[in-house]
Amino acid sequence: MISFWENDSFTNYNLIVVGSGIVGLTTAIEYKEKHPNNRVLIVEKGTLPSGASTKNAGFACFGSLTEICDDLKNMPKEEVISIVEKRFKGLNNLRIKLGDDALDFKQLGGYELITEEQAHYVTRMEEINALLYPIFNDNVFSDRSDDIGTFGFNKDKVQKLLFNKFEGQIHTGKMMSALLKIARQLDIEIITGTKIEEFYDLGDKVICSSYNNRAKIDFYANKCCICVNAFTQQLLPQLEVTPGRGQVLITHPIKNLPFKGTFHMDRGYYYFRNYGDRVIIGGGRHLDYDGETTTELKTTKPIIENLISILNTTILPNTPYKIDTKWAGIMAFGDKKTPIIKLLSDRIAIGVRMGGMGVAIGSQVGIELAHIVSNLEHQDQ
Ligand SMILES: Cc1cc2nc3c(=O)[nH]c(=O)nc-3n(C[C@H](O)[C@H](O)[C@H](O)COP(=O)(O)OP(=O)(O)OC[C@H]3O[C@@H](n4cnc5c(N)ncnc54)[C@H](O)[C@@H]3O)c2cc1C
Repeated sequence: MISFWENDSFTNYNLIVVGSGIVGLTTAIEYKEKHPNNRVLIVEKGTLPSGASTKNAGFACFGSLTEICDDLKNMPKEEVISIVEKRFKGLNNLRIKLGDDALDFKQLGGYELITEEQAHYVTRMEEINALLYPIFNDNVFSDRSDDIGTFGFNKDKVQKLLFNKFEGQIHTGKMMSALLKIARQLDIEIITGTKIEEFYDLGDKVICSSYNNRAKIDFYANKCCICVNAFTQQLLPQLEVTPGRGQVLITHPIKNLPFKGTFHMDRGYYYFRNYGDRVIIGGGRHLDYDGETTTELKTTKPIIENLISILNTTILPNTPYKIDTKWAGIMAFGDKKTPIIKLLSDRIAIGVRMGGMGVAIGSQVGIELAHIVSNLEHQDQ
């Protein structure tokens, strides 16, 4: 039961955004900047943002050579180029909005470790460089195989090393904290620990209902954006969005860590980077696709052991290290790699399915979503 006062002050908005990941926060910020007098509410089910945006590995990336080659097998060329472009634009927007210091952005470059079986991909480097040239005005990929030894990788496992100078790394927590700070400065209201269970377009407004502590609270708005990524099916079971868990671990600081940068392996199924003198490694979802198609936030022994074995055999074969901590986060996938950005009704828009590279593209999706709802003809000031 809520009071007259609560109803009067806390339940009516111009825009409600469901989900406070990178997409939800960017959407709310972009919209509020255009409509400073409008009331904007973000509703988040977790105490902290609880999806992928605070759990990721902090790669500011656009796609590795092998991944792009594989995408070209499954998607039209134009779509592959467009998704790389959106990621690049998204990263640039994020850097402009937050600043490199707030993001702790470091353009150390990205690398891809190529095994003997994958050597055929390297023959396509020129073709892929030509394809991406209009986006970057430069060749993206180059051969850096001379660094395999310098970086201390196992030469029996790594035959070639490709370099992408445009890739960088961020501090994921700092990025999210900077976005939250901007949202608060703009007077965007944020309610955490509240799960929206259902929402409807009532024709003249939108209702979003939560059942917190067994009390039903209905929030009303002129418009609503659904930004719940991997949790989409809980609200919209008909949409083609499948959750995919990602598991990550970080080492304690390593003396004389021989490499810096972001690194991709096995067509993106594994990734690792330095964070200062620590190593963060994640991936391995393909080892148990069914088990990892879940929204359950926990790590599992087989995948963590697999990540440790890759550290031991390929990445740090001669360097002693200790694991500090491990965690899991939930991504959203579908039959296509492109995000879903669309109107569900005259008043409700959705931006979900960011895949495994959502840091860069997420901010671009937020901008597009804010644009879509701004253009709806409902009482924007
Ligand atoms: C382990 C891991 C590593 C990754 N590494 C990288 C990387 O290095 N680089 C990269 O670009 N991408 C990476 N990603 C992917 C990237 O983090 C995501 O694509 C991106 O964060 C998605 O942002 P989002 O805002 O769409 O979703 P989320 O961040 O998942 O936000 C959705 C929010 O909605 C909330 N929510 C859900 N349902 C409800 C509801 N009913 N009511 C209220 N709130 C709700 C959730 O709690 C969540 O906070 C990684 C992901 C994982 C899991």
